[in-house]
Amino acid sequence: MTRIFSGIKPTGHLTLGNYLGAVRRWAEVDQFRADSLFSIVDLHALTVDHDPGRVRRLSRQAATLLLASGIDPERATVFVQSHVDEHARLSYLLECVATDGEMRRMIQYKEKSVLERARGGSVRLSLLTYPVLMAADILAYDADEVPVGEDQTQHVELTRDLAVRFNQRYGQTFVVPRATPPKVAARVMDLQDPTSKMGKSHEAGAGIVYLLDEPDVIRKKIMRAVTDSGSEIVFDPESKPGVSNLLEILASCQVGNPEALSGAYESYGALKKDTADAVVELLRPVQQRHKELVADPGYLEEVLRRGAERARGMAKPTVDGAYRAIGL
Ligand code: ADP
Repeated sequence: MTRIFSGIKPTGHLTLGNYLGAVRRWAEVDQFRADSLFSIVDLHALTVDHDPGRVRRLSRQAATLLLASGIDPERATVFVQSHVDEHARLSYLLECVATDGEMRRMIQYKEKSVLERARGGSVRLSLLTYPVLMAADILAYDADEVPVGEDQTQHVELTRDLAVRFNQRYGQTFVVPRATPPKVAARVMDLQDPTSKMGKSHEAGAGIVYLLDEPDVIRKKIMRAVTDSGSEIVFDPESKPGVSNLLEILASCQVGNPEALSGAYESYGALKKDTADAVVELLRPVQQRHKELVADPGYLEEVLRRGAERARGMAKPTVDGAYRAIGL
């Protein structure tokens, strides 16, 4: 059976980008067709300035939202990365296979390190090595597929390179995985700045729709989205990023295609209204289930405890095998 691994960082509140680019597909498709693991990758949240209490709270909130989105813990393994030591154990071995040049070429590192320096801070070494830990997350579980948004495909390519290199040097140890980004909404953009992605760790603003935003807040944010010059509604992400982003969001909500949708609209107002309605309706059941789940924190703790136990059982043989193969 195909094995899937994917994760989400507890660095902020989950956004519509996380949902359309990743979580919704995990819940609606992936868990039914494959042996799936979905992890709250909290070690990755320590790569930038963080508040310990907030990371813990956001981890629980992200896990609750995965369940609220419909991921069934009886079907998929839902767990917190730091509860399973195998990730950190394997990450070190992979650091002995990766090179510093490879790490410095990662686009996310380049972007985030510039931001950290601009804020007057220093760059944590873990920000540079973060893709190696991500490779360990994936390789520890012999995952075949990694359903992620477009921003993560370079890291999955690196994971493949490390798996192949390790296998060539030390003998067949890892399954070589591949990224499977969605066809639509692989990169949802900020509504106020459609040239940059809607990111949960970005400063909160009117351009980011959060999964737990109230319906009227969602409507307001979408109705105020920036559009492009000219009034034509065409799908062209290069020259019309604002309107293309809205078409992409609407198409994703309706499981349709943004090019086909573009012909149906004559005004920005109508497109925005339909997009807002579609997002509100899509998120309504998730928000409702979230409300029910937060009323029972004991249930979540039990799901995460069992998830970690199951994950540990899967990762340990592979990571032990890697330790033996490398000569330890
Ligand atoms: P973020 O960048 O918001 O902090 P994570 O790195 O935790 O998100 O990623 C969780 C998942 O959500 C990944 O599969 C990532 O590719 C996807 N994702 C994040 N932002 C977007 C976006 N704006 N559009 C589509 N997918 C996204």
